[in-house]
Amino acid sequence: MLSFDEDVINRPAPAAPQAVPQHSTAAASAVPARVTADDKRVINGTTDVNQLVPFKHKWAWEKYLAQCANHWMPQEVNMQRDIEQWKTGQLTEDEMRIVKRNLGFFVTADSLAANNIVLGTYRQITSPECRQFLLRQAFDEAIHTHAYQYIVESLGLDEGEVFNAYNEIKSIRDKDQFLMPFIDVLTDPAFKTGTLANDQALLRSIIVFACIMEGLFFYVGFVQILALGRQNKMTGAAEQYQYILRDESMHCNFGIDLINTIKMENPQLWTEPFKAEITELFRKAVELEYAYAEDTMPRGVLGLNAAQFKEYLRFIANRRMQQIGLNELFPGVSNPFPWMSEMIDLKKEKNFFETRVTEYQTGGALSWD
Ligand code: FE
Repeated sequence: MLSFDEDVINRPAPAAPQAVPQHSTAAASAVPARVTADDKRVINGTTDVNQLVPFKHKWAWEKYLAQCANHWMPQEVNMQRDIEQWKTGQLTEDEMRIVKRNLGFFVTADSLAANNIVLGTYRQITSPECRQFLLRQAFDEAIHTHAYQYIVESLGLDEGEVFNAYNEIKSIRDKDQFLMPFIDVLTDPAFKTGTLANDQALLRSIIVFACIMEGLFFYVGFVQILALGRQNKMTGAAEQYQYILRDESMHCNFGIDLINTIKMENPQLWTEPFKAEITELFRKAVELEYAYAEDTMPRGVLGLNAAQFKEYLRFIANRRMQQIGLNELFPGVSNPFPWMSEMIDLKKEKNFFETRVTEYQTGGALSWD
């Protein structure tokens, strides 16, 4: 069986090598049994992680295919109009603050996300179907960081200021400080699943990452830039955020399926104290994201105000909690931004801002001359 070091951690230790008499049949009997779908597990699996099929976690494979169909690249989007608006004073001070604060959070957020996947989550996941999605997701995060960098460069913003915002701007730093312990636990090279405490630590980190980071902390920023776009401002940036929102919504949905499958395969992890702890994390996250909303738009702008954001964050938190089987924290709230769901459901060929779509070079277009 082929394996890499990182995969060995979730398997029983191999038996000590024994002297095998020459010409014996021992070598033939050492061929591992073929992988069966029933034996596959999302965590602590013992089947060969290199064998994608037979499928067990087919939902992950289907999301991988759907995400490949969503492929886009930042440089397809024309930024000329944004540049003109930005440089000729067509935006108010408050609108410019929103754009800068937004980029200040996002330029580093997707790097945190990528590192969390590649250096943390990936090696603990023993389902090849889920790993296949995570590989695509890691590439998506690279594209997102590229998109933010492309906007920063197009507008000629101070790179030092934007890329250091997660150290220097309190409302952004507080969000990232909240996330760090859940990333650090997984990126510790010594961390491995296989005990109740560590399996819960992994599940907790996946919930924080998918439902709170990608599922909640990104949403004030998405609403703000897409609201600008709806008013015909910064439409190039808004188009990119629209693609990113679609990707993140897929990442979040994958994360929710992953969480629910881990729960189903390991019901012993879902204890009452664990559920209470996760509920508390949601409460804290809503507070942090609301503080960020207030900091990014202290006077209200674009027809948006702080009260709407409070309602929206509570609405999203409820939804995420229900999706993973927790009771909602804020009964009775509704969605003050119903237009956001149109943004998530966009079809690439008919996107909201009606800009262009690039054809990718396909196998048929390759030349070996
Ligand atoms: Fe993501």
